[in-house]
Amino acid sequence: MSMRRPIEIVGGGLAGLSLGIALRRADVPVTIFEAGAYPRHRVCGEFIAGLKTSTVATLGLEPFLEEACRHQRVAWFSRSRSLGTHSLPRPALAISRHVLDARLADAFTALGGDLQCHQRVEIEPPQPGRVFACGRRRSSRSPWLGLKAHVAGLPLEADLEFHLGKGAYVGLCRIESGVVNVCGLLRREERPTGQGREFFLGALRRHGLGALAGRVAEGEFIPESLTAVAGMSYENEAPLADRISLGDHFATIPPYTGNGMSLAFQSAECALLPLCEWSRGRGEWAEVVTAVMRAVRARAARRLRIARALHPYLLSSPRQFLFGVAQRAGLLPLRAMTRAIHA
Ligand SMILES: Cc1cc2nc3c(=O)[nH]c(=O)nc-3n(C[C@H](O)[C@H](O)[C@H](O)COP(=O)(O)OP(=O)(O)OC[C@H]3O[C@@H](n4cnc5c(N)ncnc54)[C@H](O)[C@@H]3O)c2cc1C
Repeated sequence: MSMRRPIEIVGGGLAGLSLGIALRRADVPVTIFEAGAYPRHRVCGEFIAGLKTSTVATLGLEPFLEEACRHQRVAWFSRSRSLGTHSLPRPALAISRHVLDARLADAFTALGGDLQCHQRVEIEPPQPGRVFACGRRRSSRSPWLGLKAHVAGLPLEADLEFHLGKGAYVGLCRIESGVVNVCGLLRREERPTGQGREFFLGALRRHGLGALAGRVAEGEFIPESLTAVAGMSYENEAPLADRISLGDHFATIPPYTGNGMSLAFQSAECALLPLCEWSRGRGEWAEVVTAVMRAVRARAARRLRIARALHPYLLSSPRQFLFGVAQRAGLLPLRAMTRAIHA
């Protein structure tokens, strides 16, 4: 019989599931409470950049990422105009969240984890043994809409395409099934029009991305993959000092970086050993919270700082103009910036 103290994880996204799997492999009793169910489409660019091999190894993620496409060449566009290309320092992995989250969930239950779907848990008050991996903290003031859909038969000009629009940016990449994921962050409209495919194409056009909408319209739109989300904030959230907060619940990084998923995995990695020790009866919960959150902060701070400083240049028209001029003149060290964000 296990004499370990149990761990509860609120949120079965990437941070919660990867931590749950690694804890189960260490024989820790784990329950995950997940508000939704699997499989499901998520608003996500579905490319993972800056994921270290040591994190993959510690969390045992290799089998889940095996099928992912490897992408390195990035092409930038402003409206329909090319801004040039560059290579990522290391290949990014591209895999659909529909597949990835469901595989992680299956693995967690196969390892004896208790996965309770359709269970939305109150996040107050925090309590010993409870970890919060329940995604971004919502901001009612957020002006942003996240939008994504899969499109078949859409040729790309590089492994990853990145399009700057009017108060918007959209990324495209091919995922493991061969379809292209089209995902963007767009300023919310007062009166959006249309539904499904028409809504998606209309949103691209109204944000100055008519040429991209034309290309998407020529492909086969996969209606069930269309998802939207609001309430994202890319400001500095006040840290929650009284609990273990992982992944987006700790901090959201602007999505153009392709780093949100690797930060989610990385934060799970930071929590793993301290939680195993606590489960074995060693240490006080307050000490575990302090140790984990110090590690999470230290690992994420640099990426968050650089990514948040660059973010406004991708979204406001005057700053996009400066960005475009600097990029075309070869003054923008995109490769160096990408390396800094992904380090
Ligand atoms: C437009 C957009 C594009 C993006 N593109 C990329 C990209 O290309 N690459 C990348 O790496 N990242 C990208 N991201 C970010 C990435 O999706 C997140 O960083 C990542 O999903 C964070 O994982 P997580 O486990 O912290 O949270 P999530 O994956 O959001 O999981 C949190 C889980 O908690 C559950 N939950 C919430 N509240 C409760 C509750 N009270 N009780 C129980 N369960 C609860 C939710 O249902 C959810 O399943 C993008 C984000 C957006 C918005």
